[in-house]
Amino acid sequence: MALKFKEDCCIGCGNCAEVCPVEVWEMEDGKAVMLRPDDCIECGACVDGCPENCISLE
Ligand code: SF4
Ligand code: SF4
Repeated sequence: MALKFKEDCCIGCGNCAEVCPVEVWEMEDGKAVMLRPDDCIECGACVDGCPENCISLE
């Protein structure tokens, strides 16, 4: 599986960065950035936590 992120739909709420246990996400200029995608353990927390459904595991 791979983490997919639709950058354009991010509203900058910060949930993904908050819930990720391995700090894949950082907030930059009011948007989420996948800074450490290789660290993802595919727990799904950011997928479930994004209010705009910008993130998926495919
Ligand atoms: S799936 Fe889990 S480990 Fe991967 S980026 Fe999302 S919250 Fe972090
Ligand atoms: S949870 Fe979704 S909307 Fe919120 S910062 Fe992360 S990607 Fe953007």
